[in-house]
Amino acid sequence: MNSLADQFVMSQEKADLKADLEEEEEEEVTDVVCAESHLKDGEMMEVDVGRHNVLLVRCDGVYNAISNQCTHYGAPLSKGAASLSCAETLRQENYRGRIIMVSRDDLLPYDKTRLSKVMNAESDSLLMRRMEFFHENDIEVWLRKEAVSIDTNKKTVTFDDGLIQSYDQILIATGCRAKCLDCPGADLGNVLMLETPDDARRIHYACMGSRTVIVGTSFVGMEVAAYAIDMASSITIIASSELPYQKTLGPEIGKVTMMVKGVKLKSGIIIEADVLIVGIGVNPNSGFLKGSPISMDSKNYVIVDKYMRTNIRDVYCAGDLTSFPLKMVEGQRVTIGHWQTAQAHGYGEGYTEMVLKGQFGNMKFLAFYLKHDKVVAAAGLNVEPAVSVVAERLAEGRVITKAEAMSDDLSWLKLQAL
Ligand SMILES: Cc1cc2nc3c(=O)[nH]c(=O)nc-3n(C[C@H](O)[C@H](O)[C@H](O)COP(=O)(O)OP(=O)(O)OC[C@H]3O[C@@H](n4cnc5c(N)ncnc54)[C@H](O)[C@@H]3O)c2cc1C
Repeated sequence: MNSLADQFVMSQEKADLKADLEEEEEEEVTDVVCAESHLKDGEMMEVDVGRHNVLLVRCDGVYNAISNQCTHYGAPLSKGAASLSCAETLRQENYRGRIIMVSRDDLLPYDKTRLSKVMNAESDSLLMRRMEFFHENDIEVWLRKEAVSIDTNKKTVTFDDGLIQSYDQILIATGCRAKCLDCPGADLGNVLMLETPDDARRIHYACMGSRTVIVGTSFVGMEVAAYAIDMASSITIIASSELPYQKTLGPEIGKVTMMVKGVKLKSGIIIEADVLIVGIGVNPNSGFLKGSPISMDSKNYVIVDKYMRTNIRDVYCAGDLTSFPLKMVEGQRVTIGHWQTAQAHGYGEGYTEMVLKGQFGNMKFLAFYLKHDKVVAAAGLNVEPAVSVVAERLAEGRVITKAEAMSDDLSWLKLQAL
């Protein structure tokens, strides 16, 4: 990579901008971290390699080092989303060129996943890195600046204030925005959506003692319901599906998570509410790419290959905005709005059968999702680290058969009988 070049990174996740793609598959030993005997087959261990903290996994005698970033808030290991991760990695890998991170937000990169879990948090407490970090690492951060177009021939991006910035290489990681309700009244003041720390605080205070209606029963809607349940005077959840999480995790798990009775379906009945919270999915933030030659799919997600390269040279894309080939589903193209590997863990679209270990009622279970007699995903509750073990195997491209999923021997998942 040209060390004098401007390096231009728009908001979040790691895409490998180390340019020299030929060398990408090569392994590099940088440190001795433990003796072979310290890590038995099937075990994982957190180790330090230079300044990096990585997870070392041994599976059938093969060692793999993966990022220590666990995606779910509350897990011991956590970090940031796309562009921050990319900028940090570039510096860790000794990239000396100029790095600019741009966001239309007015806040430094923050942990978005906490918005639905700690809704009255101070913005400061959500930050993934403080300003000193960016100064120390010579990463420029431009806030309150919105990209309005990109010219991939001239290699420039134009911003809402008229500024035109050139780049040598660009990572587009503008994520997605929450979908609005498409009905009269959707723009009224007490119809709230959850995207920013300000939104979260607004919802927190609005829910207090209020009759609260939540539209949407996937992660955001259900997490807000769980958060607000002790504060609101009532919570009514409206869903287009019969059960929560039905689309993502299937009806069986949806049933377990039902916690509010009296969900009212489209029937003409008017529900009284003081607050209406909308969490019905997302739309990609790719409007500014229209008119550029960057290929997008029919839903306007940016198409990338496994190296996060778009069809245009020097233009990369990462994070929620991408449509990328997922190895564990045979290279099928997917878009997943989830924090890093949580993506892989939770992905079960298109499954045809579910094999259940344990019982939903005991709140301790492991569900395998199968397609053509092969496991394509898993979801679990109180069975750590089984889901991670499955994800690791799938990520390595190894098949988990139906027979393995059905077997009573769960030792490979580090589980006793369920
Ligand atoms: C309430 C909530 C709870 C969540 N909880 C979880 C969870 O528990 N587990 C999990 O795995 N995932 C969770 N997610 C999803 C997770 O936050 C996303 O997958 C992740 O943030 C995606 O990272 P990203 O870098 O692609 O985009 P983002 O983190 O969304 O970053 C995109 C950035 O680009 C900026 N931007 C957009 N358009 C422009 C433009 N034109 N010009 C300049 N800047 C622009 C945005 O303002 C933003 O700063 C949650 C999401 C929400 C909203």
